[in-house]
Amino acid sequence: MRRTWHDAWRELVDTARRTVADGLVVGTSGNVSVRVGDTVLVTPSGVPYDRLGPDDLCAVDLDGRRVAGESAPTSELPMHLAVYRATDAAAIVHTHAVHATAVSTLVEELPAIHYMTAALGGPVRVAPYATYGSEELAAHALEALRDRTGCLLRNHGTIVYGDSLRRAYDDTAQLEWMCRVWLAAASVPGRTPTLLPPEELDRVAEKLRDHGPRNGRSG
Ligand code: 13P
Ligand code: ZN
Repeated sequence: MRRTWHDAWRELVDTARRTVADGLVVGTSGNVSVRVGDTVLVTPSGVPYDRLGPDDLCAVDLDGRRVAGESAPTSELPMHLAVYRATDAAAIVHTHAVHATAVSTLVEELPAIHYMTAALGGPVRVAPYATYGSEELAAHALEALRDRTGCLLRNHGTIVYGDSLRRAYDDTAQLEWMCRVWLAAASVPGRTPTLLPPEELDRVAEKLRDHGPRNGRSG
């Protein structure tokens, strides 16, 4: 079990560092978690990811009780735990990605500008605003995630879950990219972007399931 935790921790730290390197967060913003059985490994609160080593492992149970580690878990622990309790998530990535955060202030859901909308379960909703780290934010996020694997958090950022850290990270990057595309198209004066109808998103969802190098994902 310990060995599994350590492997998962290494992958978690790599993923958290990638969110900074790829510009999805700045500084210590955002957080990442991964589930190993009934234990959740999470990034510590406010610690720069380049300072995290193998001994900084931070683990809690599904009720948030500390299982291992010295540092305080992410302030968004209520949101991560709410998602693990309610879904089959194996990993969660939360970011403050620029275009996604901008879109979160403009619409109720990200219009279906691209077929990769289907990879997140359909048009991505915007959860109403609540203070970071609050149970209220956790509840809003869970509601916005119904039948979706990602949502935007109003005036805040993104949360995406998946069956692996890789999937949660890649879908976060796709979501940020789609927000960027929509902002670019929607900002052309006098023109309105064309959108994909629900039937087409259903067709793409089916195609993504059966095809592609990521066990059901190409895009
Ligand atoms: P933590 O450093 O506590 O994870 O907080 C970052 C964040 O994004 C809060 O929403
Ligand atoms: Zn945040």
